Amino acid sequence: MTTLSFEFFPTKSEEGTDKLLAVRDTLAEYNPEFFSVTYGAGGSTRDRTYAIVKAIQERGIPAAPHLSCVGDSKEDLRQLLNEYKDLGIDRIVALRGDLPSGSGLANSELRYANELVEFIRAETGDHFTLEVAAYPEMHPQATSFEKDLQNFVRKVKAGADSAITQYFFNADSYFHFVDRVRAMGVDIPIIPGIMPITNYSKLARFSDACGAEIPRWIRKQLEAYGDDSQSIQQFGEDVVTDMCRRLLDGGAPGIHFYTLNQAEASLRVWRNLV
Ligand code: FAD
Repeated sequence: MTTLSFEFFPTKSEEGTDKLLAVRDTLAEYNPEFFSVTYGAGGSTRDRTYAIVKAIQERGIPAAPHLSCVGDSKEDLRQLLNEYKDLGIDRIVALRGDLPSGSGLANSELRYANELVEFIRAETGDHFTLEVAAYPEMHPQATSFEKDLQNFVRKVKAGADSAITQYFFNADSYFHFVDRVRAMGVDIPIIPGIMPITNYSKLARFSDACGAEIPRWIRKQLEAYGDDSQSIQQFGEDVVTDMCRRLLDGGAPGIHFYTLNQAEASLRVWRNLV
C-alpha cells in the first residue's frame, strides 16, 4: 500500500488557522495516514504548533507534531511529550532543528536528533511512532556524505520507526541513499518528502536555505517562464508527477507532501498518481 501524508506549518492568526483547517478538510478526503505540523527550533512555535495539532487531531485524522531538540530543555520536551500523549498523539517527527545563527548548539541539553530519539524512547517507551529526517542529497552541514549516512543510521538505531526525506528533484539521489543505508542494515521505510513546484523565487530561496538542489534544466525552464504562473504550475506538476511515478515504481513506500499549507498543488500531483 502506498502511504500518503501532508505537512503543515503553524499559522500565526485565527484567520490563518481557519484557512488551514479548510485545507485540512480538503486533504482529509484522500485519507492520509497523518498530517504533520512543523515546530520552530528553540520552541519558537511551541504554542502554535500545539494548537494546530490539537485542532487537527480533534477532527479525526491523526496529527504528528514535529519536535526539535536544540534550544529546548529536557524538562520542556518532557512536558510537551506528556501533553501530546494526553491529546492522544501517537506519532512524532523527531528532529534536531536549526537555531538562528549565533545561538549555537553548545547550550542545548540534546544536540542531535539521535539524542532526541533516545530521550523520547527513554521517557515514553514505545508509545510514539518516531519519524526522523533523511537527506538524499546530504545534510548541508554534514562534513561528508559518509558521515551523514552514519549519523542517519545512529538515529535509526536509537529507535526511529520511519524516515521522511528532505525534498529533492532527482529520483536517483533517493535511490542511491536508500541503497546505501540498506547496505548499512537500515530496514525502516524511507518516505520521499515532495515539494510541489508553484513559485520559482520562493522555491529557489527555500532550496538555497536547506541544501536541496534544483537541477539546472528545471531552474532554466522555470526562469524562462518569468511571471507566467500557469506555465510554471503546469511544468511543475509534470516534473514532480514524473519523479513521484519513478519513485513509487522504484519501491518508495509512499509520499509525504510539503504542502506549504495549500491543498491544490499537492493534490494535482497525487491525483495523477492514483
Ligand atoms: P541530525 O540528524 O541531528 O543531523 C544534523 C547534522 O548533524 C547532520 O549534518 C548530521 O550529519 C550531523 N550529526 C547527526 N548526529 C550527529 C552526532 N551524533 N554527532 C555528530 N554529528 C551528528 N526544522 C525545524 O526547525 N522544525 C521542523 O519542524 C522541521 N521539520 C523537518 C521535517 C523534515 C522531514 C526534514 C527533512 C527537515 C525538517 N527540519 C525542521 C529541518 C531540520 O531541523 C534541519 O535540517 C536540521 O539542520 C537537522 O535536523 P536533523 O533532525 O536532520 O538533525
